[in-house]
Amino acid sequence: TSASYDNNNIFAKILRGEIPSHRIYEDNDTIAFMDVMPQAPGHVLVLPKAPSRNLLDADPVVLAKTIPVVQKIANAVKEAFDADGVFVCQFNEPAAGQTVFHLHFHVIPRYEGTALRP
Ligand code: 5GP
Repeated sequence: TSASYDNNNIFAKILRGEIPSHRIYEDNDTIAFMDVMPQAPGHVLVLPKAPSRNLLDADPVVLAKTIPVVQKIANAVKEAFDADGVFVCQFNEPAAGQTVFHLHFHVIPRYEGTALRP
């Protein structure tokens, strides 16, 4: 079992403008900003504005709007950081490594000859 959505999670505060972030994209439904502790230069987080704890409880209609933005950001990051590939991932619940409980997708540039996992 998992807890419900907590309005005081750090990304909820970022979405409300209560704490700063380096935003690189925003539309009505989605936002993207730089990860404050990047796994590699160019590490971006993409998240729907709608509250969901993670992928497990997300509204599929929201997901359908989020994934095209993930794609857009992945291409932009690949171009901007001259990467050979892009790692996209997300974690669901603490057992899987989730630490911030508002759904988000990690987008991380990757390079030939470096380790597959960030
Ligand atoms: P996850 O929940 O997917 O394991 O990881 C949450 C991610 O959010 C981590 O990569 C972490 O560095 C990032 N993060 C945590 N707090 C902040 C913050 O205040 N601002 C930003 N931009 N990123 C954060």
